[in-house]
Amino acid sequence: MGAPVPDIVDPTSDVASRLGAVEARIRRAERDFDRTSGAVSLVAVSKTFPADAITPALAAGHRMFGENRVQESKAKWPGLRAAYPDVELHLIGPLQSNKAREAIELFDVIETVDRPRIAEALAAAIARAGKAVKLFIEVNTGAEPQKAGVLPDEADAFVRRCREDLGLAIAGLMCIPPADRQASPHFALLASIAARNGVAGLSMGMSADFELGIQLGATHVRVGSAIFGTRPSPR
Ligand SMILES: *Cc1c(COP(=O)(O)O)cnc(C)c1O
Repeated sequence: MGAPVPDIVDPTSDVASRLGAVEARIRRAERDFDRTSGAVSLVAVSKTFPADAITPALAAGHRMFGENRVQESKAKWPGLRAAYPDVELHLIGPLQSNKAREAIELFDVIETVDRPRIAEALAAAIARAGKAVKLFIEVNTGAEPQKAGVLPDEADAFVRRCREDLGLAIAGLMCIPPADRQASPHFALLASIAARNGVAGLSMGMSADFELGIQLGATHVRVGSAIFGTRPSPR
C-alpha cells in the first residue's frame, strides 16, 4: 500500500467551497458592521449528515461543529475526533438530564442550558468529569410554548442561579427566533440580556440570517444548510 494520503482540500468539493463562501461572508459582515476581525466564530451545523459529508470541512481546516442529538453525535464524532483531535463540538439541541454525563464527555460547548434541572445535572457531571465544558444558556426570546429556553423575564435570575448556586461559568447566551418572524428584535433582546448580565458570548444567526446576527453582536453563528446542503428532514 502506498504512502498515507495527506488531507487535500479539493476545490471542487461542494462542502469545502460552500464553507469557504460562508467564511468569506462572515468576514465581510465583520467589516461592514464594525466588528473586530475574527470576532465571530462559525459553528458548522452537521446534524443529520454522515461523517463522510463532514470530512471535507475538516480537511479544509474547519474545527468548530454543532450537533443537536447526543446519540447521533456519539455515533459520528469519536471517530472523527480521533483523526482531528482539536475539534470543538457544540451541542445545539435540547438535552435530557439523564444524558448530562454523556453530553459532558462528548461536547466541548453546550449551548442549550435551558432549565434548573439541566443546569444542576451539568454541574454535577462537570465536577465528576473534571472537564472544562463551556455553557451557553438558551433563551426562548419569542416565549414560544413549544420551544426550549428560559423566558426573557426569567433569564437574569437563571444566570444568577447558575453562577451563584451552582458555581457554573456562563460563556454565552443562545436563541432560536420564531421561524416566521423578523429575527432582529430577538437578536437585540438576547444581546441586551447578555450585556446587563456581563455574559460575553452570543450564539445567534443561522443560514438565513447570520449576517443580521453579526450586525447585532453575535460571537457565534450556527450555519448548517448553507454549508452541508438541504437536510433530508427539517430538524
Ligand atoms: C439546525 C440548526 C441550525 C442550523 O440551521 P440552518 O438553517 O441549516 O443553518 C442552527 N441552530 C440550531 C439550534 C439548529 O437546530
